[in-house]
Amino acid sequence: MQKHFSTKKRYLTDDEKRKRAIEFNEFCLDIEKVDVEEFVKSDIFDETIELKCLDCGFQEEIDYDIVSECWDTFMSDYPVSYCLKCNTSDVVPLDVYNRLKK
Ligand SMILES: [Zn+2]
Repeated sequence: MQKHFSTKKRYLTDDEKRKRAIEFNEFCLDIEKVDVEEFVKSDIFDETIELKCLDCGFQEEIDYDIVSECWDTFMSDYPVSYCLKCNTSDVVPLDVYNRLKK
């Protein structure tokens, strides 16, 4: 499905990837461990999205994983979430905000 908004991708540096893999191995004792050097060789990125409230203009950047998990793609072309500031469910991706506010 085509996304009607943009997200930000930031690739991790080798040091960050190494640190993340080591942390993962320390954390997940029972699960198969990650091969740290293999992990460092692969492309790993964090994806975030800029969200803005249509009511009060409160803006925040959060992990796209969190947003996409609670996004019902059958209901809407874009994720909508609750505003921490004014408690309305009018928080939309920044691109959508700019389109609606025009
Ligand atoms: Zn708000």
